[in-house]
Parts: sequence; C-alpha cells; structure tokens
Amino acid sequence: MNIHVPFFNYSFLFESQKEHFLKTFQDVSSRGAFITQKDLVDFEQNLAVFSGAEYAVGVANATDALEMLIAATGIGYGDEVIFCSHTMVATASAIHVNGAIPIPVEAGADHLIDPASIEQAITPRTKAIMPTQLNGRTCDMDAVQEIADKHNLLIFEDSAQALGSRFKGRHAGTFGVGGCISFYPAKILGCLGDGGAVLCNDQKIYNKIMLMRDHGRNPETGDVDLWGRNSRLDNLQAAFLDLQFKEYDKVISRRRHIANIYQEQLGSIEQLVLPPAPDSSPDHFDVFQNYEIEAERRDELKEYLTEQGVGTLIQWGGKAVHQFKKLGFGQSLPYTERLFETILMVPMNMSLSDDDVHYVSDCIKYFYQR
Ligand SMILES: *Cc1c(COP(=O)(O)O)cnc(C)c1O
Repeated sequence: MNIHVPFFNYSFLFESQKEHFLKTFQDVSSRGAFITQKDLVDFEQNLAVFSGAEYAVGVANATDALEMLIAATGIGYGDEVIFCSHTMVATASAIHVNGAIPIPVEAGADHLIDPASIEQAITPRTKAIMPTQLNGRTCDMDAVQEIADKHNLLIFEDSAQALGSRFKGRHAGTFGVGGCISFYPAKILGCLGDGGAVLCNDQKIYNKIMLMRDHGRNPETGDVDLWGRNSRLDNLQAAFLDLQFKEYDKVISRRRHIANIYQEQLGSIEQLVLPPAPDSSPDHFDVFQNYEIEAERRDELKEYLTEQGVGTLIQWGGKAVHQFKKLGFGQSLPYTERLFETILMVPMNMSLSDDDVHYVSDCIKYFYQR
C-alpha cells in the first residue's frame, strides 16, 4: 500500500493547534495590537534568553535581517564578503544590495562552509565571512573564528535554518556580529506568513537595527536618525511564534528522533551519505531543519520516491548560488558542483509519524535493492 508522505504540509501547524491559534488571533486582534506591541517585545525577550544572545530584534523576514545586519556594520561599496555557495540566494543578495561583493566558496563534507576554501578567497578587500548554518547544523565556528581573527574580518551568521542549533554549547546566531533567523512557515519555528529576527550581542548594532526596521525613526526624540525601512515583525506573527516557542524543545527532540530513525534504517546503504547522526559529535547539537542526503542515481531515486508518494526536494532549485549565471558569478567550485548532482532532501517535519519515516526509509532501501 502506498502511503502519501508530502515533503512539507503547510496547513499542519495551524490544523494541529487550531484552538490555540484562534484564541491568540482573537486576543491580539481584540486588543488592536497589530504593530510593535507587547507580544513582539515578549517574543524578542524569549528568543534572546533561549539563544543566549544579548538582544533579539523581530523583523519582517530573514532576508531583511541579513541586509540590515550588514548595513549596520557599515560594510558596503567595494567590500568583499565571503559566503558558502550552498545557501539560499538571499545570503548573497543581502551582501549585493549593500553594494558589497558576494564571494562564494566551497561547502565541505557536512555541506557547510569549508574553512580551507575561505582562506583561499581572502583578498585585501575582504571585510567579512558569512557562514550559513545550513540544515539546522552550526559549522565549525572555531575554524571560522580563527580565520576571521587572523585577517581581521567580521562574522555574520545566516542562521535562518538553525534556531537552537549549537556548536560547543553556543547557539547559532550568537558567534559573530549578529545572526539572522527565519520564521518562514517551513522553517523549524515557522509562523503563519513571513517573519525573521536578528540576534546580536553588540548594543550599538542592536540600536541601529531597531531604528532601521522602523524607518530610522527615533521613538524618544521623534527625529529620524538614519535611513531605514519598514521591516517590523508583525505583532500577530510574534504572538503566534511565542505561542509555539513554549514547545520548541519538543520540536527539536522530535526532529532529532526522526533523524535517528533515518540513521538506523539507512545508515548501512552504501549508495548513500547521510548527515552526521544526532549524537555523533560532542561539539555539534543539530536541530535538523532538513535531512539532506547524498544519493547515487539521485534523479532516479527522486522519481521513484515520487511514484511511491514520497515528496522530496533538491535545495535551492538544484543549484548553488554561484551557478545562477545571470547573477554574474565566474567562480568554479568543483566540490559544491558535484554535491549538487547528488543531494536530496527527504521529509523532515512535525507532521511525520514514525510510520511515515519508516515508509520513506523502506522505499529508499527497496530502490537500491532492486
Ligand atoms: C529561508 C532562508 C533565508 C531567507 O529567509 P526569509 O525569512 O524567507 O527571508 C535565508 N537563508 C537561508 C539559508 C534560508 O534557509
């Protein structure tokens, strides 16, 4: 019998907690509390406490978060910022819209930025490194920090996929100048629309981003202190996020449990490379935003799984950022390019039952045994 296992079920979150969402909607709406109200402040505080950051600023989405974070440091025209090409185009566009030059480098074996590749890309114009904490895993930040210290570079983290992920006990988003989180519906902590946040430890950066997200307007003086935009996290979304945040530890445990099932079921298949298992390293605590495998005969496997009712996805439409030629990149990154011929994400989300995960695993096992 075929079970249908979609890659992601967008109505699941609301449907599974309907009463709570409706109650929150009613509460916030009847207070008329739509823009920068108590719910946003509460959520920002809870987010900062959870991640161990000094400050958290709710903004409209993670792309805005990245753009404003870079702008707040003054990095701009002619400056180069190094990023891993296995990321969303938003990482690079945030650099580009600030007038700086995005420099893509290789991903490593764990699909995150390769420190050796960073070193090779450094020039006198390099100002910062922007690792993406991809798939819910934080990269080796000791290695990145060492390079940054040696060359006097800033670090920005694209932690859009990594809320709660840790390296040596420290949370993604809290290592460098700041980190950006996304609350896009398919992200681990998703809202019912767009949302994002900046985490940071520096009060000056925090103050600037607080102004920037609200047109540069200074709430105390009524003056406009700098060029800004409208990028406030919607108060209703903040209330929805705060509601779910209470159960966030359970969400992370569940995702790690699913990763353990995949590991048990698929770990011995020679034609696959799995992500590092949940407890495979004391340095890493991964939250499994995605479960991204490397698979021999990837396209055939994907097609087979579709036939069996299992949804899969190749990240970023199947291309690393530097492979979007219309954006003008000239780099060749052979390791990353080869990776994009084999990577595939299998279902990893809260709507999955254990049976679903076993079904997906059985289909994959059967494909390679045929
Ligand atoms: C989702 C995502 C973003 C963008 O987040 P938005 O909130 O949709 O703007 C940026 N970088 C990475 C790695 C992402 O996964």
